[in-house]
Amino acid sequence: MADKNQYNPVETEEKIRKFWEKNQTYKFNPDSKKQVYSIDTPPPYASAGHLHVGHALHYTQFEIIARIKRMLGFNVYFAPGYDDNGLPTEKYVEEKLGINKAKTNRTEFRKLCLEESEKVEKVYTEKVFKKLGHSYDWDLLYQTISPESQKVSQTAFLQLVKKGECYRAKEPCIWCPKHETALAQAEVEDLERTTKLNYIEFGNKKEEKVVIATTRPEFLASCVGIFVNPDDKRYKNLIGKEIEIPLFNYQVKVMEDNEVDPEFGTGIMMVCTFGDNADIEKYKKYKLDLKIMMDEKGILNELGGKYKGMNLKEAREGILEDLEKQGRLKKQEELQQTVGSCWRCNTPVEYIVTDQWFINTLKHKKELLQRGKEVNWYPKFMRTRYENWVKNLGWDWAISRQRYYGIPIPVWYCKDCNETIFPEEKELPIDPMETKKNCPKCNKPATPEDDVFDTWMTSSNSPEVALRWLEKPEQYKKLAPMSLRPQSHDIIRTWAFYTILKSHLLFNRIPWKDVAIGTFILDPKGHGMSKSKGNAVWADDLIEKYGVDVFRYWVGNANLGNDLPFNEQELVAGKKFITKLWNATRFVFMNLEDYKNKKPEKLEAIDQYLLIKTKQLVEQAKEHYEKYNISNAKKISEDFFWHNFCDNYLEIVKKRIYNNKPGKESAQYALHTSLLAILKLFAPIMPFITEEIYQTYYKNNKEEQDSIHLTEFQEIDTKENKQILDAGDLFLKTLSKIRQAKSNSKKPMNSEITLTLPKEDQTILKEMLEDLKDVSVATEIKEGKFKVEF
Ligand SMILES: [Zn+2]
Ligand SMILES: [Zn+2]
Repeated sequence: MADKNQYNPVETEEKIRKFWEKNQTYKFNPDSKKQVYSIDTPPPYASAGHLHVGHALHYTQFEIIARIKRMLGFNVYFAPGYDDNGLPTEKYVEEKLGINKAKTNRTEFRKLCLEESEKVEKVYTEKVFKKLGHSYDWDLLYQTISPESQKVSQTAFLQLVKKGECYRAKEPCIWCPKHETALAQAEVEDLERTTKLNYIEFGNKKEEKVVIATTRPEFLASCVGIFVNPDDKRYKNLIGKEIEIPLFNYQVKVMEDNEVDPEFGTGIMMVCTFGDNADIEKYKKYKLDLKIMMDEKGILNELGGKYKGMNLKEAREGILEDLEKQGRLKKQEELQQTVGSCWRCNTPVEYIVTDQWFINTLKHKKELLQRGKEVNWYPKFMRTRYENWVKNLGWDWAISRQRYYGIPIPVWYCKDCNETIFPEEKELPIDPMETKKNCPKCNKPATPEDDVFDTWMTSSNSPEVALRWLEKPEQYKKLAPMSLRPQSHDIIRTWAFYTILKSHLLFNRIPWKDVAIGTFILDPKGHGMSKSKGNAVWADDLIEKYGVDVFRYWVGNANLGNDLPFNEQELVAGKKFITKLWNATRFVFMNLEDYKNKKPEKLEAIDQYLLIKTKQLVEQAKEHYEKYNISNAKKISEDFFWHNFCDNYLEIVKKRIYNNKPGKESAQYALHTSLLAILKLFAPIMPFITEEIYQTYYKNNKEEQDSIHLTEFQEIDTKENKQILDAGDLFLKTLSKIRQAKSNSKKPMNSEITLTLPKEDQTILKEMLEDLKDVSVATEIKEGKFKVEF
């Protein structure tokens, strides 16, 4: 049979959840006089599956910050969001409804996505966020697929176009031949591979025969330049000459450039449009010809001659074979190389020239580095990641994607006069595929853009979406920039970077004051967790076994920006802690039955000592909390609770209370006050048990706030007092020596002793001697060298 005095997390947590919901405990109050603290929280994709501990920790870690800030006296703006404007949603909707998005009109499909997402998100809200005790204001919920979010990203686009920061150009761009779409630099990942470096003989006449080493012979048909280093004596006489390209028989001029590495291959560089990034640099620097030899699928066109119709791999094989036949393939070497690949399909990227929309980034590098410095990064070293990314940027941000589904780019083009037609901001959101527009110049129907935005185009405006930039401009003006962006480290180069960029270009300021980078959870052996590896630990299993507070106790150990291996022992420790908190509280309140709930005129010295120590603890914990050092605040509070409060203080005042001795009210006051202060320090981390204790014991006892989570960290009405601090420290040191002596003599702690203490100690301890006698069960205190006699 369950002990009714035992804490039952499942029942209690459910009851408390309902209480918060009914009372709208976490509702944002726009009329409050308090300073606002706003969080640009990461919107998750709501899936029907399980949540592993890493994800549950991620969101909970940031939720703890919201609770901390409330208790530090801020009016917290904490809007939940769902990221449903992406591939996973599309796939889900296609599968569930058995439709093909390519055969559904885009507006209709987006509507279906919105409806289906809403259903899944409702379940997710209940099963994940509310379950975990998250304190969002659900009335502020947003979705990245909603018409309002579309309006935000389209408005931002139009404004950037007006400012001249967004342009359309036929430019080389990074291309995934498999997805057939442009990619941004941030979507490209390094791929290590072994390839062959081919030494190929160029030129026909004897005097112009040279060997050039290339990893991409398939690009021979688009060679537009040959470069040598001007300091390379071997090739001085080549500069300015024309050399014939093998198999394709056309002439290309040899030029000089300092950046050509004489040590690589034969020291001669072939530039094609485009085999790699270096080709694009030379193409731009020397305004070389453009020879496009493949289409958007990576298939060779007319320029490819006899290789027309082949894909790049086939063309490569054919070309090498033919070169070999002609005796022009002189040598092949293995080469380790790093190439860019599409982050989604791992296909090595190509570079093609198409019409794309871009946002200026390269010319703002310096300002973006400056903006990075204006933001406070937690932990600090994460700023370096941002800076390295900005410094290494080689491309403007390509924001158009050749995908079917997404937020439409709101433009039309006139084929006759080349006019680009934009809608008015008040027409947004708009899908040009669904709206006809005529060219204002020739009055003929214009062609709608069918590309959509990169999804980061919306995510990079999450502060605007969360704060209702267009719906509530007054509120936005008041609350922006936001206080905090919490996020994970792997999207610094995308989410953090693009948000800073957009804010800089649109509003000429930073988007938020602080960035906090979450903890990355590893399995007990130190490996990343994933469903596919089979090493994931599921949050719901743990919650069922231990309760939410215990799970959150573990989250409280995480340090921002660090890795944390999962260890179930920490949850066992959490369970022990919660049991102790519950039992200690019950014990305290058994002794407070006749408590009058007011500060007595005179406080006993040891009670004052406890209050001063508690006050110091609260100050220190607040300092840690202000800097998002959750684990440090938790650690010092926990140590204080176990040792100072339970092991020492509760034992010290027991007799004074039991035996109705003078100073009973003083002890009751100190217990009541100190325990409430401790509870509040734990409240952001373990919101359920602290609320239960507050509701059961404190609220009816004149505490004014409805919920512990609406209170601020406890102010303790006491002053620092060196004399009392010295005396209290000596008291505890002496008590520890007495306990040690009892334990060494194998005596129980309640065994009676005769205590001998030096005169100077007795002078310092003057006002605490009675309590010392009580707690050490000393019948008498003699004067002399420290001694414990039985
Ligand atoms: Zn791809
Ligand atoms: Zn026109």
